[in-house]
Amino acid sequence: MTVLLIGGLDSSAGAGLARDLVVLADHGVAARVAATAVTAQDPAGGCVIHPAPPAIVAAQIAAAGQVRAAKIGMLANADIVSAVADALPDVPFVLDPVLATSAGAALIDGVGQNAMITQLFSRAALITPNLPEAAALTGLSPDASREALADALHNMGARAVLLKGGHAESTEAVDWLFRPNAAPVRFAAPRKPGTRRGTGCTLASAIAARLSRGDGLETACGQSKRYLSDWL
Ligand code: PLP
Repeated sequence: MTVLLIGGLDSSAGAGLARDLVVLADHGVAARVAATAVTAQDPAGGCVIHPAPPAIVAAQIAAAGQVRAAKIGMLANADIVSAVADALPDVPFVLDPVLATSAGAALIDGVGQNAMITQLFSRAALITPNLPEAAALTGLSPDASREALADALHNMGARAVLLKGGHAESTEAVDWLFRPNAAPVRFAAPRKPGTRRGTGCTLASAIAARLSRGDGLETACGQSKRYLSDWL
């Protein structure tokens, strides 16, 4: 089993490709990587970004050869989105629509966001926005209901949506899996203290690892949530 990881290199190794690789190793799944950007991230939240040339991103994806699944994180800009959309093999992939670091640095520009929506949403087996990302992508209020956010994302082309509630105030971190014409599925874990980086990357990579091994979406989401909770 091999999973293709498409995303950014975080120099602090807390998130992005460096984190994704650890998760795949934990799952006994081999990795190929396509780096979309090199970033320098410091503890104060500073973030300097050097996007990769789109042709290099495409070449890395082509060089990956046969893979069973993919996970997409940071995409940086519209040209990289298009390179990925053109080069991506026809395998199930998890799209983690990361917009910014926890400290607030943008990881994709506005034009890139629109390109991600139009070129990748409908092809993803699953998208994994947190509540602030879902609000930003849909233009709805962060206080909109989970159902309204999921409906809007479906209307924008997304198939399955794992809406992550980790940022909402509660003693539990609750995620919901929304699919058209199916009842929503709830996944809950106790909220852990602290603000560890790379939680979104960890969950999405674990789901991709499980999809590559043939798990169904619901099992992959539930088991990956448990894996994330254990890691935290
Ligand atoms: N840096 C890169 C390269 C990422 O891919 C991501 C998330 O996917 C982040 C930073 C954000 O991570 P965090 O939310 O832990 O700041």
